[in-house]
Amino acid sequence: MKRIVVIGAGFAGLWSAVGAARKLDELRVPADQVEVVVINGTPYHSIRVRNYEQNLDETRVPLADVLEPIGVRLVEGTVSGIDVANGGITLQTQGQTQTLAYDRLVIAAGSQLVHPDIPGLTEHAFDVDTFSGATKLAAHLRGLPSLASAASAASAASATSAFTAVVVGAGLTGIELAAELPARLRGIAGDAHRDAVHVVLADRSAKIGQAMGGAQSVIERAMDALGVEMLAGVSLQSVDADGVELTNGRRIEAATVIWCGGMRANALTAQIPVTLDPLGRLPVDAFMRVENVAHVFAAGDCARVLIDGARPSVMSCQHSRPMGRYAGHNVVCDLFGGEMLPLHIDWYTTILDLGPWGAVYTEGWDRHLVSEGDAAKTTKQTINCVRIYPPRTRVRDDILQAAAPVVQTPPPTAAAR
Ligand SMILES: Cc1cc2nc3c(=O)[nH]c(=O)nc-3n(C[C@H](O)[C@H](O)[C@H](O)COP(=O)(O)OP(=O)(O)OC[C@H]3O[C@@H](n4cnc5c(N)ncnc54)[C@H](O)[C@@H]3O)c2cc1C
Repeated sequence: MKRIVVIGAGFAGLWSAVGAARKLDELRVPADQVEVVVINGTPYHSIRVRNYEQNLDETRVPLADVLEPIGVRLVEGTVSGIDVANGGITLQTQGQTQTLAYDRLVIAAGSQLVHPDIPGLTEHAFDVDTFSGATKLAAHLRGLPSLASAASAASAASATSAFTAVVVGAGLTGIELAAELPARLRGIAGDAHRDAVHVVLADRSAKIGQAMGGAQSVIERAMDALGVEMLAGVSLQSVDADGVELTNGRRIEAATVIWCGGMRANALTAQIPVTLDPLGRLPVDAFMRVENVAHVFAAGDCARVLIDGARPSVMSCQHSRPMGRYAGHNVVCDLFGGEMLPLHIDWYTTILDLGPWGAVYTEGWDRHLVSEGDAAKTTKQTINCVRIYPPRTRVRDDILQAAAPVVQTPPPTAAAR
């Protein structure tokens, strides 16, 4: 019995596993000759891109609903070791350490929020990097009214800071979260405290949304309309239980500090004997094979491919899903024969949620503006709520078909107003 092991069941890992099952089905490889095993930290496929949203109910898909109908085995556990010389991994599951041999391996363990050595950051800042981080933030926000009541007994100023939130890092995640927070906090604050709501978005770049090309000025307009205070050109000096100190000397009293300082590939990549890129990613060729490491593939935020033959892939759901589908297809072809397919995507889009204001949609690597406001919001909601989900029908053919190694067309949108 041969074994294909996939580490991670996020956008890259889930689609690698389903892509492998699809190709095995197409090649009619008997089930007793090969198994596909997915190892994931939780029994859920997390729609991680939605962690900035208020309602997290629909952001987790039970993996069993997707994997059981197609005969892929799920192991709930955490991989701690990869031994490429001997073709095996080490994992912890239900308190036990196990080893598992593989014939082919797909590393799709994703990325993690970077945590630089800033005093108080780990202890006091929230994040929306994972479902558990977003859940912890939501529980904290729900508790703010009682914090405010207790504080107002002490002083009016501390009641105000109860509804002050500072988002640090104005990349895509920080912008989406900051845009969502004013309305979310006003809903929590109620009539008694709604005027105390204050959201700050801070970034070390000279402008908020500096890397966003044609969307940059749209983002500033949206933040103004939403009442978000933008602080550009500042870094975080320290965080404590009552707020933040910024490098320009300003102190902001705030009950909520949320760190959105960028992502780095999962530390497991450091176990592979190759030179990683500056984001800690494994270099892969167009077939998702880790360069010069036999039998090992990688996809998603763990991997760096030249996505159009020239530009490196971006840590994104947009690239992770097709990288996964192609990795799944190719890993089976490598093991059982069949034509491996190179991934080549000649388009790039950015669609940024701007909360109740709407959204902004850009095309191209230079991010030229295509649409904004309600038109872009409709596109964003279609992406977040439909396009990136696996079929949840539990119908085998639906699931396998969704993993075909093809590049989707860009999400449709109406032109800019
Ligand atoms: C709030 C937020 C908003 C975002 N918005 C967008 C957006 O609008 N558009 C976009 O394209 N991208 C967006 N991204 C980025 C996108 O979510 C990631 O690029 C994408 O999730 C990467 O997919 P992945 O499969 O490589 O990793 P992940 O989705 O992170 O999946 C990795 C999986 O591996 C598992 N895992 C990790 N380590 C181990 C281990 N040791 N053992 C076993 N399992 C392990 C994890 O539990 C997880 O299930 C956003 C990210 C965040 C946090």
